[in-house]
Amino acid sequence: MMDIVAAELRARAKAKEPLSRYTTARVGGPADLLIEARATDELLSLVRHADAIGMPCHILGSGANVLVSDLGVRGLVIINRAREIRWKTLDGNARVETDSGVALITLARECVERGLGGLEWAIGVPGTVGGAVVGNAGAHGSDVNANLAMARILRRGAAAPEWWTKRQLGFGYRASALKRYHSSERPVVLTALFDLKQDNRANLERRAGEYNDRRRASQPPGATMGSMFKNPSGDFAGRLIEAAGLKGHRQGQAQISEKHANFFVNTGNASASDIKALIDLAQTEVLKQFAVRLELEVELLGDWGGGPALSGADAPLEIEN
Ligand SMILES: Cc1cc2nc3c(=O)[nH]c(=O)nc-3n(C[C@H](O)[C@H](O)[C@H](O)COP(=O)(O)OP(=O)(O)OC[C@H]3O[C@@H](n4cnc5c(N)ncnc54)[C@H](O)[C@@H]3O)c2cc1C
Repeated sequence: MMDIVAAELRARAKAKEPLSRYTTARVGGPADLLIEARATDELLSLVRHADAIGMPCHILGSGANVLVSDLGVRGLVIINRAREIRWKTLDGNARVETDSGVALITLARECVERGLGGLEWAIGVPGTVGGAVVGNAGAHGSDVNANLAMARILRRGAAAPEWWTKRQLGFGYRASALKRYHSSERPVVLTALFDLKQDNRANLERRAGEYNDRRRASQPPGATMGSMFKNPSGDFAGRLIEAAGLKGHRQGQAQISEKHANFFVNTGNASASDIKALIDLAQTEVLKQFAVRLELEVELLGDWGGGPALSGADAPLEIEN
């Protein structure tokens, strides 16, 4: 089996592939090696193979929540294109089981079209189901935690994947137990199972339409990573950055959006360092002026020159099963 995977890697992997092609901010240096996984089995065997030969291995969905360094990422980057959706019922209740590479927007739209409620909040949230589980993506008062039943997870080095409950996934505000791992050690989300409710299709369409209108009215178009920082308790990161006088501030071709100060836009050919400079500036000024420490929602991925970057928290979590 390993020989087949090694042959696949040799035949299909791209060397020194710029990750700017795989991130929504259109920023990021090269991956040593990059391959697209077209199905869950392929994702599973590629991760296992890389782990077995000691090659650092990172998964990317749509790259909608990462800032990849200009120096790129060492080891293998797998772009997750496993995209099967399976509709189910359990005791008369609707459920959907999806591969982790399914686009959340596609899933939300299909649910609305089938008159199944629960995921319409996700109608405008870019990224894959896997990325959404890792970051507990959410909008309009709901999130993954509110709808997920379980997720099938491959721990690095484990013999077989296992179904994790929500308790094991440890969701918090744009956080999960998975997000606390370094990306090269993070357990891999293979499949997600969501509970849905029968609903009126016209109602769901109306709600989804309202959510899209609100998004268009408040968020800038163009190449971004969504919200850069988590909202601090009782406040909004965008309000604080604006109050610090930084709305519209530029560094090279990166800009703190004029429309929403928690969105940082690549206006042309920005580098990751340009965006990182804006991040540092916003954190420094907001701390100095308002004594609030802004915590990144976006994950710094790759080689930042100072050791491995960790997202949100600082150490891998041990999880009971
Ligand atoms: C315009 C815009 C609007 C946005 N609005 C919202 C919003 O309203 N709400 C919100 O929550 N977010 C929002 N975001 C952020 C983003 O959409 C979410 O964080 C999304 O869930 C990221 O998914 P992804 O597949 O792109 O993850 P990626 O950016 O590809 O990956 C994020 C992290 O998850 C890891 N990962 C990805 N897939 C897997 C997997 N299968 N197994 C293990 N690890 C994995 C990656 O290694 C990385 O560490 C927005 C982004 C943009 C660009």
